[in-house]
Amino acid sequence: MTHKKEIDLATKTVWAGEADYLVHGATQVPVVLSVAYNYDDIDEWFDVATGKKAGHIYGRNTNPTVQSFEDKIKEMEGAEAVTSFSTGMAAISNTLATFLVPGDRIVSIKDTYGGTNKIFSEFLPRQQIEVHLCDTGNMAEMEKEINKGCEILYLETPTNPTVKITDIERMAKAGKEAGALVIVDNTFATPMNQRPLALGADLVIHSATKFLGGHADALGGVVCGRKALIEPIFHYREINGATMDPMAAYLVLRGMKTLHLRVREQCKNAMALALYLQKQDIVEDVFYPGLPDHPNHDIAKKQMDDFGGMLSFSVKGGIDTVRKVLPKLQFAHRAANLGAVETTVGPARTTSHVECTPEERAALGIPEGLIRVSCGIEATDDIIHDFEQALQAAKSDKLLS
Ligand SMILES: *Cc1c(COP(=O)(O)O)cnc(C)c1O
Repeated sequence: MTHKKEIDLATKTVWAGEADYLVHGATQVPVVLSVAYNYDDIDEWFDVATGKKAGHIYGRNTNPTVQSFEDKIKEMEGAEAVTSFSTGMAAISNTLATFLVPGDRIVSIKDTYGGTNKIFSEFLPRQQIEVHLCDTGNMAEMEKEINKGCEILYLETPTNPTVKITDIERMAKAGKEAGALVIVDNTFATPMNQRPLALGADLVIHSATKFLGGHADALGGVVCGRKALIEPIFHYREINGATMDPMAAYLVLRGMKTLHLRVREQCKNAMALALYLQKQDIVEDVFYPGLPDHPNHDIAKKQMDDFGGMLSFSVKGGIDTVRKVLPKLQFAHRAANLGAVETTVGPARTTSHVECTPEERAALGIPEGLIRVSCGIEATDDIIHDFEQALQAAKSDKLLS
């Protein structure tokens, strides 16, 4: 029998991170709801409390169910260390707060997740932290800004909702040369499609609420990286308290066991839907990195194994057409979420960029008639047929009115 050096990611989604947490011969990780842990041996208690010995003291610091989830994602991202959070936004805000001090400068892009963008535009500037946001996808501008000096380079790729792509390897190199900490939000790609640490990033962040959990029933966030970086983030989080709930950790852990299957189907459906939408005359534009005419398709091909389950498209007639199309979809939740097994749709102006004015959305290249689609794992034909009948109905509405 030939020996395989690396265990495949598909196998890791099923097995990684669990063995150390099984008890009583159970095959599944238990949900440990206990807030505190009993020590008969007072010296042992002291050793655990002071970090000399592994163990648990109090639920805000660590919890076995939460740790099992952490270990699984750590192995999938190929990281040395990991810590988790109550939400994706807590992972982002706590990580930034761990490292930034007044006078620091952060370089990022204009198209980050709405909440992240609020941190950049509202909360960091009032702490005397300079934020420079570059046009997403303009790698030369980013390099120029990075070279001016920054403590943090913060990336997200693909982005929300127009799925723009940034070259992680190239930007990480520029960031390193400038002495910056390079952080990548990998929520949209998932470790199945993209592993930023292998491309030179220092830290990789996920909203576990989305694809990792995959069932839209649990909130969570996680950050992976080197031990020396994760330790101060963990310390900030254990004191400030944005701890992941054990029940949420269990749900995400269970969801992750099928991550490879779900993401494969979501990518397949997104590609098929993008190709279908491109041919429709009521559709103005289709945004999907898997399309050869996407402006950064080559970079996406280089750094991703597949192009992800997220796409967006704009319709002729703007928001009026959106109003007609979305209610007609049978197999899609009209909801502000993504990454779940069900297809989910929403206008950018209601979901990812609800905080922006129409002018701000226009400046980001987000048409008012933009529909974001998170493809689920339904049969491809059913998804396409559903969009077909919804677009058709919107078109005949127009003829009648
Ligand atoms: C949803 C999301 C977040 C925030 O995660 P929450 O779990 O909702 O706090 C961050 N980044 C991206 C790309 C997201 O889609």
